[in-house]
Amino acid sequence: FASSEEQDVVVIGGGPGGYVAAIKAAQMGLKTTCVEGRGTLGGTCLNVGCIPSKARGWALLHSSHMFHEAQHTFAHHGIKVSGLEVDVAQMMAQKTKAVTGLTKGIEGLFKKNKVTYVKGWGSLKSGNEVEVAGADGETSTIKAKNILIATGSEVTPLRGVEIDEEKVVSSTGILELKEVPKKLVVVGGGIIGLEMGSVWARLGAEVTVVEFLDNILPSIDGEVRKLFERTLKKAGFKIKLSTKVVSADTSGEGVKLTVEPAKGGDQETLEADIVLVATGRRPFTKGLGLENVGVEVDERGRIKVDDHFRSNVSSVLAIGDVIPGPMLAHKAEEDGVAAAEILAGKNGHVNYANVPSVMYTWPEVASVGITEEQAKADGLDYKVGKFPFMANSRAKTIEDTDGMVKFISDAKTDKILGAHIMGPNAGELIQECVLALEYGASTEDIGRTCHAHPTMSEAIKEAAMATYGKPIHM
Ligand code: FAD
Repeated sequence: FASSEEQDVVVIGGGPGGYVAAIKAAQMGLKTTCVEGRGTLGGTCLNVGCIPSKARGWALLHSSHMFHEAQHTFAHHGIKVSGLEVDVAQMMAQKTKAVTGLTKGIEGLFKKNKVTYVKGWGSLKSGNEVEVAGADGETSTIKAKNILIATGSEVTPLRGVEIDEEKVVSSTGILELKEVPKKLVVVGGGIIGLEMGSVWARLGAEVTVVEFLDNILPSIDGEVRKLFERTLKKAGFKIKLSTKVVSADTSGEGVKLTVEPAKGGDQETLEADIVLVATGRRPFTKGLGLENVGVEVDERGRIKVDDHFRSNVSSVLAIGDVIPGPMLAHKAEEDGVAAAEILAGKNGHVNYANVPSVMYTWPEVASVGITEEQAKADGLDYKVGKFPFMANSRAKTIEDTDGMVKFISDAKTDKILGAHIMGPNAGELIQECVLALEYGASTEDIGRTCHAHPTMSEAIKEAAMATYGKPIHM
């Protein structure tokens, strides 16, 4: 790599934000380099996040779902299996194969699109220079008209609880367990904690979730949350709300976790083989040298950017988990495309209000737009329409009827404000609603659109009909 050659853009970080930005920038004719320190492309998402944790057909959420189906539902469908066993090592090997295939795939895309890939840790030397501590021990400097920071996020530590990735694990360590823990305590009732808890619960672990707040999944629509909580409890989850973790003792066998009521009170000890700390993620800017150039961050350490992803230093832009907004891979990718377009002199924009959120448990939970609680808090005049999967023919035929579709629309104009789905394949189904919100559609637009029969998507049509009028099948 000729480090003296000035680049139009140097992207620091090769996660979903950075690698997508690099490809898009190169596609638009910009001379582009991407610097990534971890040795493989794909970032948190491909290496230790979205893909190894789920990736239907490949990895852990799907594998554990298949095992659970074989154990609990096959017989009902007249399929007899015996000698069913979990081979955790094979499950993990399958996951690793998926991850390696996908990260190598991005290297191929870089070659195809003529993105220069530099392996090493980058830092800002000036607003137009990136210093790279190469994997080979060499240091080099790359000159750049613009620098795009896409360094993502890392696990937020929890006071009193040291993560050793053996007995007290983060979302990274939980993906590497060698055997099914008998007792798993998940600290944090957010999406990552509940997804990972579901994996190990299906494989036989006794799972207890400890949450500081008085609700799990605080950002999800309250009615959907209650319904989901019921399915978690049916699956054997124990949930301890308004509970604070004080300390973790790993000196003996397993872990002794001391907890107390969030508002103070008597302490209690929970015993576990494994404790998963899933209390959140924070922006990762360590060693990036933001202070060398005076790039400003907010009170949570996120790089402050304007509507065009520019920091206070005009040649330095930032995208993805390291800036404010939903910490999701698809949001980082959208940021990446928009930022590359802006650098190429075009208009790029991301509508954060319509970024969908999906929890890949079974049933899945997916949402876009506002919740009913938000509509109330904002004093909006709104309507609600619902339809349960219990009344959907496809869900009934496969006996997967837990959940519902719920719409919130403007009482006067019927414009859709929010859509919430709990049910089989909710993550795929939500996309119709995302498109509807993006195009400013009404529930009547969806209700009058022909949906194929028999499909789960008919529940969306019926929920839409229930919002502006009446559903047919309820
Ligand atoms: P990252 O993916 O974090 O990538 C940043 C990259 O930059 C890293 O590879 C890092 O090594 C590199 N880097 C950092 N500093 C430097 C430096 N100085 N020099 C060079 N390289 C550097 N999101 C979803 O949308 N769907 C999901 O299902 C989902 N599941 C998740 C499950 C788990 C367990 C976790 C932890 C996260 C999950 N996420 C999911 C969130 C998602 O992974 C992130 O939102 C996404 O990866 C953010 O992308 P990014 O490009 O901003 O950062």
